[in-house]
Amino acid sequence: MAFAFSRKTMAGAVVLVTTVSMAIAGCANSDPESASSPSKSSASAAQSSLQPSKSSVAKPTVSSGASIPAGMPSGAVPSGTYGVGAAVTKPNCPEPPSNYSPFQAPGTVVKDIDGLEPGTNHGTAADKYAYPASVVNQWLQKPSTQPKNKKIVFVTFDDGPTTKFTGEQLDNLEKAGARATFFMIAPQIRDVNKNMLTRSLKMGNALAIHSYSHDYKYLYHGSAADKAKHISCDWDWAIAQNRAVLGSDYFSSAFRHPGGHMSWSNLSQSDAALAKRGVSWIDWNAMSGDADVQRPTTVPGYLEMVKKSIKESDNPNVVVILNHDTFGKQMTAEAMPSILSWLKSQGYEFGVIS
Ligand SMILES: [Zn+2]
Repeated sequence: MAFAFSRKTMAGAVVLVTTVSMAIAGCANSDPESASSPSKSSASAAQSSLQPSKSSVAKPTVSSGASIPAGMPSGAVPSGTYGVGAAVTKPNCPEPPSNYSPFQAPGTVVKDIDGLEPGTNHGTAADKYAYPASVVNQWLQKPSTQPKNKKIVFVTFDDGPTTKFTGEQLDNLEKAGARATFFMIAPQIRDVNKNMLTRSLKMGNALAIHSYSHDYKYLYHGSAADKAKHISCDWDWAIAQNRAVLGSDYFSSAFRHPGGHMSWSNLSQSDAALAKRGVSWIDWNAMSGDADVQRPTTVPGYLEMVKKSIKESDNPNVVVILNHDTFGKQMTAEAMPSILSWLKSQGYEFGVIS
């Protein structure tokens, strides 16, 4: 079932088992090569005691804020929105589990990193093609709302940043004249040179959030209220960590759940908690296959997986592709030039998720 990405992605029951297994397997923490990635033990916890729900895919919810007209690129959020522009302080909840040393909030306004447009997760170059996560999410959940007159692809990378693999993907994107959205595990941004983050922003990419802990047990254990409490707390720590490195004006409306929103049940309360913060979850409707336990074993296999998953999603005009830029994802880096080239040949414009 390695390549069985159903045409009813995110809507039909047929796809659920396969998609869920890919989603869970996709996070770098299950990767044997990712020995130094955070929360390594959490994946095994998820696979044993925290089995993802198969029913959660059937009825996804669209977070609030999806009323922005389709096709309208996003603007920056005003200063003051959820701390934008203010001092970076410690969140009002206990620090989520992390393999990193405890995050120390500076308690001051942090100068923005070079390349960041205030109130956004990208640089000004991306204004023309940056779309709020709520809009992209709605496009995925209700394909009838997608733009009719153009094809947009959102290439996404999870579980970074890492100096090696994020750097290689930036090279790939630069050569192709493409851009992507990087869903980062917040504390990992301490491990990379700020120049790489600036380079990414100046190239027109977006830097979004893929949690602080990446810990399935912490995020998804317990009641709906427990999940809401932990996921929102995790996001609070993630945005604080990102603002401490990227600058006080950093904000991203895009949150990708570790394992994928589609993999878990009873998230409506946590979705609402995120929506209160101006945040929407965003999954994917295509993938290179580096998420799969039985991932492609050749570089051409990754491109074939992209083609196949898009086709099986009924060739939508809006495609969000799941990839990873963390430890062990060498083949993703090697495959990306052919994937980007093929996407261009098919007439897709490259967007980013703000
Ligand atoms: Zn992940």
